[in-house]
Amino acid sequence: MKTDGSYQGGENFDLRDVLLNGRSLPLQDRTSFFQQFLQGLRQREENLCMRCINSPSDREVSILDPVSGKERTMLMFGSNNYLGLATHPHVVKMAADALKMYGAGLGGPPLLNGYTSLHRELEERLAALKGTEDAMIYSSGYGANVGMVSGLTGKADIMLYDAYSHASFCDGISLSGAQSFLFSHNDMTHLAMLLDRAKNRPHNDIFVGVEGVYSMDGDLAPLDKILALCKHYGAYLIVDDAHGTGVMGSHGRGSAEQFAIEGQIPVTMGTFSKAFTATGGFVAASKAIVDYLRFFARSYMFSASLPPATIATVLAGLDVLEQEPQRLVRLHENVTYASEHLRRIGFATPSQSAILPLRVPLGMNIRKASKAFHERGIFVNSVEYPAVPVSQQRFRISMMATHTREDIERLLAVIEEVWSLFSNDILEAADEDHQRNAA
Ligand code: PMP
Repeated sequence: MKTDGSYQGGENFDLRDVLLNGRSLPLQDRTSFFQQFLQGLRQREENLCMRCINSPSDREVSILDPVSGKERTMLMFGSNNYLGLATHPHVVKMAADALKMYGAGLGGPPLLNGYTSLHRELEERLAALKGTEDAMIYSSGYGANVGMVSGLTGKADIMLYDAYSHASFCDGISLSGAQSFLFSHNDMTHLAMLLDRAKNRPHNDIFVGVEGVYSMDGDLAPLDKILALCKHYGAYLIVDDAHGTGVMGSHGRGSAEQFAIEGQIPVTMGTFSKAFTATGGFVAASKAIVDYLRFFARSYMFSASLPPATIATVLAGLDVLEQEPQRLVRLHENVTYASEHLRRIGFATPSQSAILPLRVPLGMNIRKASKAFHERGIFVNSVEYPAVPVSQQRFRISMMATHTREDIERLLAVIEEVWSLFSNDILEAADEDHQRNAA
């Protein structure tokens, strides 16, 4: 692990480095090389990226099958529509009303072209949700991280961030030029050591970046411990709560509620693309930080306001979160049910968030396994090399409040079936691995 403070991305892999093997080729050669790569995937019927969904993205979806070219129904375990809000009647009505009242959009960024009272209402409700003085809305979660990190930190600052941080957080760091150091995932001893070292380096401020719920494995950051360390060293804690907002804590207010530290996190970022099923992002912080970011976060300053219908979607989602607590209860019941059964058939899955990872063992060809899920009508996301190292490839299951017991039982049966298809390959690979280690 590098310790010189130069930028080193966690999730920030570059497909070019992997596919082109470090070769520097003109654009035409690169695009034709990539066309061949895609064609190979298509010929093997393994290209399941960008499946076309012709229905709302709920527990069951209708897709245009990329292999047969025909319409078919699949069970959806790959959408972050955790609370099932995408089709909620209140959400749909509020969005339709906003479209009628405000039209399609504002045609520019908030600083220049203004925003609506709906936008301001949402900022106030997000600040209340996170227990901060103020909040601001970005046109994507990606943009919120890039703008917030690069707006708050610069070359004179130190950023310590978890090795599993999202690509958008990493991109924000590389844009800011901050002296950055990765700490091993959720490793408090490593973080404490880096904080200790950082205090002896010349700096203006120290920032610590973590995720409330990690997007790949669904595990939680020990936020209470991290906050205590940050307070001890006088560092600013930044929490990306993209997957915690609407899911964690007894009211769904997020990871800070889960750890009973609401209102104590200096900067919280979130997205509207997960539990709120829309698009957009936000940063909740003190009024001084929010006012500052409105002018110093370039992705805010130079990007258009979200359409009012999107804002109304999120406002309605917040209403549902408050008025229908049973949705959150149902989501967690589903997570517990699925993870208990997964544990029984040999998967070690964390069960606190709505994300359940299925680690793919050595010897199992993830693309072939992905195709097997698809053929059996189960829509799951595969997280493949080079997004993660080969040893960490996985399927990522997203649970929803609207999944029925039958849906989950079908999922579990298919998982067992797919794993058994590859059992010989897995055993052989494990045996080879064992012999290599013994040699
Ligand atoms: N942070 C995390 C942890 C995420 O998982 C994502 C989305 N994958 C983002 C930020 C970016 O959010 P969006 O997709 O809403 O732009």
